[in-house]
Amino acid sequence: MDQRTDVRNIAIIAHVDHGKTTLVDQLLRQSGIFRANEAVAERVMDSNDLERERGITILSKNTAVMYNDVKVNIVDTPGHADFGGEVERILMMVDGVLLLVDAFEGCMPQTRFVLKKALGLGKKPLVVINKVDRPGARPAEVVDEVLDLFIELGADEDQLEFPVVYASGKGGYATVDPGEEGTDMKPLLDAILREIPAPKGDLTGPAQVLFSNIDYDDYVGRIGIGRVERGEVHNGQNVVLCHRDGTTKNVKITKLYQFEGLHRVEVEEARLGDIVAVSGIADLNIGETACAPECVEPLPFVQIDEPTVSMMFMVNNSPFAGREGKFVTSRNLRERLFKEVETNVAMRVEETDSPDTFKVSGRGELHLSILIEQMRRQDFEFQVSAPQVIYKEVNGKKYEPIELLMIEVPDSYVGAVMEKLGSRKAEIVNMGTRDTGMTHLEFKIPARGLMGYRQEFLTDTNGNGIMNNVFDGYEPYKGDIQERAQGSLIAHETGESTGYGLWYAQDRGRLFIGPGVEVYEGMIVGVSPKSDDITVNVCKKKHVTNTRSSSADEALRLTPPTILSLEQSLEFIKNDELVEVTPKNIRMRKTVLS
Ligand code: GDP
Repeated sequence: MDQRTDVRNIAIIAHVDHGKTTLVDQLLRQSGIFRANEAVAERVMDSNDLERERGITILSKNTAVMYNDVKVNIVDTPGHADFGGEVERILMMVDGVLLLVDAFEGCMPQTRFVLKKALGLGKKPLVVINKVDRPGARPAEVVDEVLDLFIELGADEDQLEFPVVYASGKGGYATVDPGEEGTDMKPLLDAILREIPAPKGDLTGPAQVLFSNIDYDDYVGRIGIGRVERGEVHNGQNVVLCHRDGTTKNVKITKLYQFEGLHRVEVEEARLGDIVAVSGIADLNIGETACAPECVEPLPFVQIDEPTVSMMFMVNNSPFAGREGKFVTSRNLRERLFKEVETNVAMRVEETDSPDTFKVSGRGELHLSILIEQMRRQDFEFQVSAPQVIYKEVNGKKYEPIELLMIEVPDSYVGAVMEKLGSRKAEIVNMGTRDTGMTHLEFKIPARGLMGYRQEFLTDTNGNGIMNNVFDGYEPYKGDIQERAQGSLIAHETGESTGYGLWYAQDRGRLFIGPGVEVYEGMIVGVSPKSDDITVNVCKKKHVTNTRSSSADEALRLTPPTILSLEQSLEFIKNDELVEVTPKNIRMRKTVLS
């Protein structure tokens, strides 16, 4: 077995704001890779505003630092959300993980998911207690907390003996001894070289490259990012690409890159253990292996979770169309959506009978709502339908997707969470309390039971809870949960909306627009069908909703009961006057979740 002593590959796991960007900037600066004009402001590791706001990283980025003639490839991990096995694929590229923890705040539960995966895959952890310069920093305690967490997450004995480095990314120094004043980042780089295993394998065998990620660049198109698992690859080399379906294709590597600092640079060759990028291979997909023609041996595919929820994206044909967005046509929408699936592997886009409507399927509401939000920020104007769970038929029986839901809440909210989830057919599978006053809960829940729950959860826990879910499998359909109204907002028409354009209410049949959405006069902002009448809340004057029922809304009562349908307009008798409300800004319907 050969070993590359001149390469180390690590993934960074960090909670937002624990100083990952600052620390990586420092490593780049001190290793002299920064060009003069690349200020700290070039925060490429975590550059997406939306990601920062939500505290998750959606796209993983690559960085590389040279130190003592060793190339250290640093791969970012998505904070705590995982849409379709991305975390696992990223971890396949590395031999160790750098867990970055704020010396004052300590471990945050958001990183738990990625950390558990990393430990489970046997990756060597290096713990960096960061921001030791902070007043109130408590590095020794935080190390104990990390140890407790590792034990809880099932770390093996070697992993429990994790090395620790104390750092101040801001101060630009690291030390191995917490009592010492550091001067530079060398102790951290030394620890990486010493502690993280160098890539091992066969340096001289036939080339084999496993592609773990796909990136997209407007100039060169699709870019595969992966690791050389065996031998050497050369620019211009002919390789056989092994597709997921078992077919193969002969392709030529026309552009081969490695990472230098924050950039991708063209190289002539790469060897075992190198993290590489290739462009020019149009139908390269995630998880595929490129092999030397004389030895076609695909590596196992990391599973990409199937989409469980779908939604229609439609051209906005309402009278408001074109008022808010720049990109409004079906061609705009089509191009944008199909570009998305180039890199967002757990997402699917399908044409429908209507050229104006596209079916988009993803890993849940959050996955889809992030796309909606991104598109809105990019000035797209479109409508979306209510999300639908994707069911499967197996031997003539209906099966439904089940999610493993992980929740972390302060103890006092456990009751509220359990009660809500109980009515959503969740079954508790694991529960644990920690000294910190936080309880960890794990449930199995039908995907439909999760619909609309995230927003409610945040409200119920006053924003102090954390939830995360991963696909668990398909199970026979569990029967109706409860009758519930579902709605979807026509994205973008609400102007300065900061909401996701999606909202639900769990109470039987109630529907309200969530907070932070700009609403206009005449727009229906809430519906609560009671047993013998329906109360409809109509916006009286333009405002941004701040709570579920807003003072600027006017309630109208409708009798006898009426089911709201997509194209229907409503008439009310109010103060002996006929009031007509057209649901032009809103589409809603009453659905029995089945
Ligand atoms: P990221 O979200 O993990 O990438 O974190 P950033 O690098 O953006 O840092 C988040 C905040 O913490 C910023 O306000 C930084 O100035 C601050 N920060 C980063 N590193 C340190 C540090 O070592 N010490 C202190 N006191 N603050 C830091």
